[in-house]
Amino acid sequence: MRKKIVAGNWKMNKNLAETKTLLLELKTKLTASQTEIIVAPTYTNLGSAVEILEDSSITVAAQNMHQAENGAYTGEISADMLKSIGVETVILGHSERRAYFGETDELLASKVNTALQHDMTIIFCFGEELEDRKKNNHFSVVENQLKKGVFHIAQENWKNVILAYEPVWAIGTGETASPEQAQEMHAFIRKTIANTFSEKVADKVSILYGGSVKPNNAEEIFANPDVDGGLIGGAALDAENFAVIANAI
Ligand code: 13P
Repeated sequence: MRKKIVAGNWKMNKNLAETKTLLLELKTKLTASQTEIIVAPTYTNLGSAVEILEDSSITVAAQNMHQAENGAYTGEISADMLKSIGVETVILGHSERRAYFGETDELLASKVNTALQHDMTIIFCFGEELEDRKKNNHFSVVENQLKKGVFHIAQENWKNVILAYEPVWAIGTGETASPEQAQEMHAFIRKTIANTFSEKVADKVSILYGGSVKPNNAEEIFANPDVDGGLIGGAALDAENFAVIANAI
């Protein structure tokens, strides 16, 4: 059985007090479930999040990290720094990092390597833009992002990888991929992994969908056989909404 995962990417939202409030609410609302829950608050609140969630099964992730071990990279955060405060999971390749901070597939490949060297779990994000879909290029765009960003890893490292298909046109727009579009892409991703690595790797890797997942559409998206959960943006900022989504699996 593949792991079912619901992750909240809080992006640049919630100060320290708001973070504490939301996490305490989540702790009470998210009880015993088979689904793995991950939250990714902003850097400054990661340490507090780890402490607050110590006695819960919710995992804390960072939203980004630098590829170097350390050095003169003003404003950046390393894998070792994250691990030293108990953060073992990192989101890499989010479309906002790609679009606003110039993160390329090559740069992401090197961030993936660093995270794996530190035995971290990676939530690797990718997805096509609206133009790509209109031109019917979405499969080749996604395949290319995977090939360049993550397909160089060794077979045994797939146990540390979670994939998150996030079509850019669905992020923060209120427009989701239809359940059919999500399933079609997730099945394509799994088949591509099977062809490149093995059926076993493809069967095991959790592939999350992200892009305007809300309490009212989560169930129909998660019901697809190749959709193993979601990476949630806006709706993860409210405990009730996030709990409804987490329970929709
Ligand atoms: P929304 O759920 O706000 O569309 O954001 C999705 C996302 O980017 C998660 O990483």
